[in-house]
Amino acid sequence: MNANVPSGAVPAPVFPEITGNLGFGLMRLPRVDGKIDIALTSEMADRFLAAGCNYFDTARVYDGSEEAVREAIVRRHPRGSFLLATKMAPWAGCESREQAVAQFETSLERTGAEYFDFYLLHNLGPGRTETFDRFGLWDWALKRREEGRIRHLGFSFHAGPEELDAILRNHPEMEFVQLQINYADWDDPVVRARQNHEVARRHGKPVVVMEPVKGGLLATPPQPAVEILRRAAPDASPASWALRFAAERDGVAVVLSGMSDMAQIDDNLSLLSSGRFRPFDAAERETLKDALAAMASVPTVPCTACGYCEKACPAGIGVRGTIAALNQLTLYGNETRARNHEHWNVAKAGKRRASECLRCGACEKVCPQRIAVRDVLARAAAAFA
Ligand code: SF4
Ligand code: SF4
Repeated sequence: MNANVPSGAVPAPVFPEITGNLGFGLMRLPRVDGKIDIALTSEMADRFLAAGCNYFDTARVYDGSEEAVREAIVRRHPRGSFLLATKMAPWAGCESREQAVAQFETSLERTGAEYFDFYLLHNLGPGRTETFDRFGLWDWALKRREEGRIRHLGFSFHAGPEELDAILRNHPEMEFVQLQINYADWDDPVVRARQNHEVARRHGKPVVVMEPVKGGLLATPPQPAVEILRRAAPDASPASWALRFAAERDGVAVVLSGMSDMAQIDDNLSLLSSGRFRPFDAAERETLKDALAAMASVPTVPCTACGYCEKACPAGIGVRGTIAALNQLTLYGNETRARNHEHWNVAKAGKRRASECLRCGACEKVCPQRIAVRDVLARAAAAFA
């Protein structure tokens, strides 16, 4: 891995109405007996606003989150004192345009927000972008923006730079892109965060960062990396390195963090609240490079995700997604996350699982990295059984 961390001054705000560098992701709110804890969420929102930050990010597919926004934020603070982003996800069970656009009205009702400062077409990528095209939702969203019910229009994205480039060429009216950016995925051959970021910037689009701590994995990176980070800054949490890496990318409008308790709020605000963000200095940049090198020395499968094996495979095995999940398990040791990763990148992507490999060896004949794919898949089949 090579972060190739750039130098740079504190970036200028790309949406001047956003204050602070931190956005409050509302997907992992605290719960009591399965229900969102409105009292604690209110307290967390108050602390966040008091620190000079104002961007809240929810989505209709975050269970109970939009209703919690109404109780904890909209009913308790003047509408102009915060910015609210939510998202439309027609790929989650909509069979008609009417059902898809009803999501917008439902989100307005649930949140009581009257309008959305930022509205996103949620999770574009293979098998999902097509739904937005089929239901004519790009033009529909533009009309809502003209009416003022949406102030800024963008989309979140989980796929590669080629598809991102195509979307932005077809839809220059989109004002921003929400991308997965963190130091571990920056040069990852599957996520290709750096390339996605470059495409967005080439099209002049500001970037809202999601997953800056890789869903929490970079709060506990591999031990060799932890030791390097701790030696350089004993009081800085590993997550703080990840947040600062994300915040100092070019053109970043805000860095979202899905916060679940007051300690996370305080830790994140200490780094990214209004006026607090400090880009890495030269020594810190070297430290992060060393930590990445230490992570790269952890023995993972050297797959570049070129996909040749999958083209040759008679069984439709999701080799790339399987290897990426196995590598994640090796690096972070988090079995639940690795299993989710495998499910999302293999079964959900319409590919067959490692356990269905025929062991014919066609993949190994074309793999430029000479990976013993059959043995790797056998390991994965056992790990993800
Ligand atoms: S060995 Fe398995 S993964 Fe490789 S080509 Fe054959 S069926 Fe596909
Ligand atoms: S051919 Fe080899 S390097 Fe390319 S995706 Fe398959 S396993 Fe990875």
